[in-house]
Amino acid sequence: MIPFLDLKRINEPHESAIQAATMRVLKSGWYVLGREVDTFEQQFFHYCQTRFCIGVANGLEALTLVLKAWDFPAGSEVLVASNAYIASVLSITQAGLTPVLVEPDPQTYLLDPTRLEATISERTKAILPVHLYGRCCEMDAIQAVAQQYGLKVLEDAAQAHGSVYPGDGTNIRLAGNLGDAAGWSFYPTKNLGALGDAGAITTNDATLAEKLRALRNYGSSQKYVNDYQGYNSRLDEMQAAILSAKLPLLDAENTRRRTLARMYLTGIRHPDVTLPPADRIDLDAWHLFVIRHPQRDMLRAYLREKGIGTDVHYPIPPHQQVAYTSLAHLSMPIAEQLHREVISLPLNPVITDDEISYIIDTINQFND
Ligand SMILES: *Cc1c(COP(=O)(O)O)cnc(C)c1O
Repeated sequence: MIPFLDLKRINEPHESAIQAATMRVLKSGWYVLGREVDTFEQQFFHYCQTRFCIGVANGLEALTLVLKAWDFPAGSEVLVASNAYIASVLSITQAGLTPVLVEPDPQTYLLDPTRLEATISERTKAILPVHLYGRCCEMDAIQAVAQQYGLKVLEDAAQAHGSVYPGDGTNIRLAGNLGDAAGWSFYPTKNLGALGDAGAITTNDATLAEKLRALRNYGSSQKYVNDYQGYNSRLDEMQAAILSAKLPLLDAENTRRRTLARMYLTGIRHPDVTLPPADRIDLDAWHLFVIRHPQRDMLRAYLREKGIGTDVHYPIPPHQQVAYTSLAHLSMPIAEQLHREVISLPLNPVITDDEISYIIDTINQFND
């Protein structure tokens, strides 16, 4: 049996580093917002090549806090892809703003920059590109629209740790350094995962960074002095120490993901299977390897029978969720088709070549 994801096996190579880190925190006597958080923030902004990193409690709050910090008028609109993960949309509504769904590019599954202008109104304040599955959105084109209309750009980088954006080749940058700010999640399943909930924001904006430091901690920049009605969205020392222990291996793990993605991309040959874009194999972070098949549920059942675990990211688009009846009138045919057809194959740094070969052969033998 090849499970879709086995977090125990994924964390095994990190075991001694994690043991040392957690013991250091235990012995320090300081458990929330301390030296470990400072250290991880520095390591992570250095990794992303940004000026600042602010550790927070999780990815949803990373995104929400940035949108709140920007202080847009209530009801301002934020553009987001119609096939985004629900947390991306939740961050907009939790900040008191209105999501405006934009159909994705059917080739890349990412926000389609050519569709942005038609959705902009006088209430539009920001664009929220989600680097879905670990591939960076077309940020040059998105930035061009943002600049023309004076919009902020908030990257949802929760699936894109170490993902490289090539642009036109003259200004190669990493996810997290492609907008005005980026929200990160370190949920255990992510490419850089904690042993619990954790998140961060990266930015090059010093004023924003300072405000976010206050907002995550009751709105206080000095103990018992409150400049804002803030939140409790602190990153704890234990998770920060674990993330510092795991960060040094992130690039090697992403390299392994890229090797496995290449195996899938060259090995899977099935007339009814659509593969993900293969033009940036060594740049994308391959958080997920997502293929499409018109009989997705049959393929899933067949793979399960053959001992291969899969998942679906995601089965229901945001506008069809019960939680969002305000969006229920929308018709989003591209997103709806993607949600019917996508299926995620096992891909993680500890899966073996033999396991990948078995999955490839099994898919190629599927008779639908
Ligand atoms: C995981 C994820 C989030 C939310 O992160 P949490 O830490 O679970 O709150 C947001 N956006 C995307 C695209 C994600 O994959």
